[in-house]
Amino acid sequence: MGRKRYWLPTPKKENDLIIHFTDQLPAQIELEVLASVNAEERARITYNHTATHLLHAALKQVLGAHVNQKGSMVSPEVLRFDVSHFAKITDEEMKQVENIVNQKVRENHPVVIKEMPKEEAMKLGAMALFGEKYGDTVRVVTVDPAFSIELCGGTHVPQTGCIGLFIITSEGAVAAGVRRIESPHRAGCL
Ligand SMILES: [Zn+2]
Repeated sequence: MGRKRYWLPTPKKENDLIIHFTDQLPAQIELEVLASVNAEERARITYNHTATHLLHAALKQVLGAHVNQKGSMVSPEVLRFDVSHFAKITDEEMKQVENIVNQKVRENHPVVIKEMPKEEAMKLGAMALFGEKYGDTVRVVTVDPAFSIELCGGTHVPQTGCIGLFIITSEGAVAAGVRRIESPHRAGCL
């Protein structure tokens, strides 16, 4: 019996359930379904996702503690990051941000993922996203404890060297006081 493959786009989370979407249903819906991950796409998502954490921390260093994540999109092809900031991010500031991220990549820090009570994570100074709901137990992603600690449920590289070169290709306004940064995926190790 032949196997039919369906490609599923990024799932959505609703009430702690992961929901997968498909355009088509199998002809015989009662048959067993085997779900498998596209390993290459997933690896490319990990490069962009860990790079997003490094970018967030670097932006805070360069622009100031007022900057906050306003939105983020991570795909195998690109990372897109929206950040609250009142002015255009200058070429000089972007260069500094790129240099910090690339330095953290070259230092090849392990990406440490731990579950812990929310209070403990807050004591560590973990960055949480405003408006996001978190349970009593949170997942904490640390890349160099002095640099980036974030609450996050996403998929990451084992160590930062996997990301390869980080380059910002565009910066612009998306709304009043919100800037959008894009960086395409270039290389990776997995
Ligand atoms: Zn994350």
